[in-house]
Amino acid sequence: MTRLVLVGPPGAGKGTQAGTLSEKLGVPHISTGDLFRAHIGDGTELGRSVQGFLDEGKLVPDEVTNEMVRERLADEDTAGGFILDGFPRNIAQAEVLDKILAESGQKLDAVVSFQIDEDVVVARLLGRGRKDDNEEVIRHRQHVYRSETEPLLNYYRDIVLTIDAVGEVNEVTNRVLNALDK
Ligand code: AMP
Repeated sequence: MTRLVLVGPPGAGKGTQAGTLSEKLGVPHISTGDLFRAHIGDGTELGRSVQGFLDEGKLVPDEVTNEMVRERLADEDTAGGFILDGFPRNIAQAEVLDKILAESGQKLDAVVSFQIDEDVVVARLLGRGRKDDNEEVIRHRQHVYRSETEPLLNYYRDIVLTIDAVGEVNEVTNRVLNALDK
């Protein structure tokens, strides 16, 4: 059973690692950023309501985000585990996640923390070219990470695995798999 949360600053390579780990571990990759972008791309009402937050690098309100995650975690493919990428992003979301999992007798196995310098991630993001990747928005997203998301590492301190996120993609994947004993 593999129920994981990936935590790391924007640009740490979480999404890429989540994709690879999802294949290797045979559990779905659930990225709240991807879910929001899919809604925006499909022109749904939810998409229209969250677009401004994504454009400015601000967190989407918890009620919207938590409800979307609650629905996604109710899908059958998550019964054998999942990799959450980009959720939770603050303590309030973490508390809701605990509650959602507890309702079906589940709990997280590990929280993988990707460690990388801010200078390295900002340089990476500037090269990525996503719509929310201009310098001002990038800076803001790093600030949101430090103030809202990083405190999760203390919240989850008993199950955190700290991974050096600097290096080749497959090297970093191997570090995670080793830390997970897989
Ligand atoms: P990401 O692809 O994870 O970098 O997320 C892109 C954007 O989606 C973020 O800058 C937020 O605007 C929004 N977002 C993603 N996940 C969350 C979350 N858990 N809570 C609030 N907003 C989120």
